[in-house]
Amino acid sequence: MNNYNWCHGPECHTTQTQSRVRGSGTNKVLRTIKIKQGRYNGYQNGIWDYFCNNRCLFDFIREHITSIVAIAPRRQALETPIKVEKTKHEDYRMRYNGENYERIPYTSTRTTIKSVDNT
Ligand SMILES: [Zn+2]
Repeated sequence: MNNYNWCHGPECHTTQTQSRVRGSGTNKVLRTIKIKQGRYNGYQNGIWDYFCNNRCLFDFIREHITSIVAIAPRRQALETPIKVEKTKHEDYRMRYNGENYERIPYTSTRTTIKSVDNT
């Protein structure tokens, strides 16, 4: 059973780290990182089963972005119904009058975005 993936980063095999060195004597190479599947228990939908690190992931995205978005193209904006609530609150700020600090009251408006149950 294949429990490993090769990192899909297009430049993975060119990065100079000890962990990529293979071979002996004068026949040494830098090899693509071998990744154990499930190493992070499916964290972020298992994306790290295919990429050894963030650089390799973004190199892959940069190289294949046109194909990636073609899988699920967004042709129009999506919208989420909400309710916007504005509430007034009494508050105060402090002002120094030369001798003491005094409370200066004011009314502020808070805007809250609420979810709408549209089931
Ligand atoms: Zn890699």
